[in-house]
Amino acid sequence: MDAGSGSGPDLSAHARGLFIGGAWRDGETGGRIAVVDPSTEAVLAHVPDATVADAVAAVDAAAAAAPAWAATPPRRRSEILRRCFELMVERADALATLISLENGKALRDARGEVAYAAEFFRWNAEEAVRISGDFAVAPAGTNRIVVDYQPIGIAVLITPWNFPAAMATRKIAPALAAGCTVVLKPASETPLTAYALADLYAEAGVPAGVVNVITTSTPGPVTAAMLGDPRVRKLSFTGSTGVGRILLAEAAKSVISCSMELGGNAPVIVFDDADLDVAIEGVMLAKMRNAGEACTAANRIYVQSGIHDAFVARLTERMTALKVGPGVDPSTECGPMITPAAVAKIGRLVEDAKQRGGTVLCGGTVAGGTGYFYPPTVITDVAPDAAMAHEEIFGPVAPVSRFDTEDEVVARANDTEYGLAAYVFTRDIGRGLRVSSRLEAGMIGLNRGLVSDPAAPFGGVKQSGLGREGGHHGVLEFLEPKYVAVTF
Ligand code: NAD
Repeated sequence: MDAGSGSGPDLSAHARGLFIGGAWRDGETGGRIAVVDPSTEAVLAHVPDATVADAVAAVDAAAAAAPAWAATPPRRRSEILRRCFELMVERADALATLISLENGKALRDARGEVAYAAEFFRWNAEEAVRISGDFAVAPAGTNRIVVDYQPIGIAVLITPWNFPAAMATRKIAPALAAGCTVVLKPASETPLTAYALADLYAEAGVPAGVVNVITTSTPGPVTAAMLGDPRVRKLSFTGSTGVGRILLAEAAKSVISCSMELGGNAPVIVFDDADLDVAIEGVMLAKMRNAGEACTAANRIYVQSGIHDAFVARLTERMTALKVGPGVDPSTECGPMITPAAVAKIGRLVEDAKQRGGTVLCGGTVAGGTGYFYPPTVITDVAPDAAMAHEEIFGPVAPVSRFDTEDEVVARANDTEYGLAAYVFTRDIGRGLRVSSRLEAGMIGLNRGLVSDPAAPFGGVKQSGLGREGGHHGVLEFLEPKYVAVTF
């Protein structure tokens, strides 16, 4: 197996093949996909390029393992999931380095991701033994209503590159807790973490075939083949709204249950009475975690007139001071973007905002050289019709606009097809709760720049998605209620 070029790290252990039925195997054609380090542009490894036949083999393996896994006692499933958590914590440093290499994110963000990703195993180990049913007397008094929750069946899981570990464990852990077997298709930009974790699951005691992992450069036909297979009953997708729409249409052909975690366009609202220190910390976290490459990232920052200038001065100071560099350098605070196309898209959005009256206070220009870097940027007076007010920036650009009244800012915040996260900063808790209830978003950070928590329901409204991951809701996405009417 080609482990990559030059003197880079040897990552061949994570590029041994497709992971199907508990074994590493080559794909049907022997084709390979190059995995590139976005900090250095060096090829890190080559992973197999699965075809439709490989995807069918993965579904075969998931189907073969399904009856025994569904029949495995919940306590045993729980213990295996708990062991996955423990092994992830033990290997946190190595996993974080791997994430930094293939994704580019700063090591401290990668460490945060591993901790977050591992928590899905701990949380769902606890959920696995708490799946209960319902029992009721029918209103007519003629019978009893018994409801049992059963595993929904084989699940196809599709994940993006921006959280290579957490987006996978957020699906795998509840699916396994529910008793489902899965085929995971990670993003081809960041497949090495998914393959490293496949080894870890096997070591934790996950039986062969319960988790299968395939990478492909042709996700359309490969996914369509799996969704068209009558043995597959669930699609859980995290990615862009555009691809989500395509997959919903594909899943409709077989009427497959869909959980969709899609794109975001998070507004941040900073009222005059906000604690400026709290607001700056919150906005830095909401904007700069993962260098802005997060679905929950602050995409529009609305600041009330009375605090606007002080806020902008502090934000610009903080953004200017950030250290940009390769993800694996421990002093890096802002790593590269995932691809040259991502850098080009951010540049286009910034130019458009400037042409519509925006003022760049820092950043805004690509330095060139090796790696896909974009500098931390603050841009003020962003017009309501600027493209970045409507599209995901997915980069380290903080667009600030001024507002005067609560009604005005709520209307502007809701003026989007997205509805994933939103953030509100105010010392008036009554106003904070009132505005939270008026915002069309699935998750609100009130005086906080971080909402993600494995114990809480993560997900969006409007075109940001369907269903929830985490909390008690996550496992329900992989269960089907079975109702039995009983007379006795
Ligand atoms: P993407 O939609 O391009 O790709 C996501 C996954 O879908 C990848 O595995 C990709 O290979 C696969 N894919 C692409 N085309 C496909 C097709 N036609 N059929 C089947 N699969 C296909 O998204 P991305 O660029 O990898 O990730 C960034 C996006 O993900 C952003 O929009 C971001 O907001 C979103 N995201 C959402 C959440 C959430 O929880 N809501 C979390 C992280 C990322």
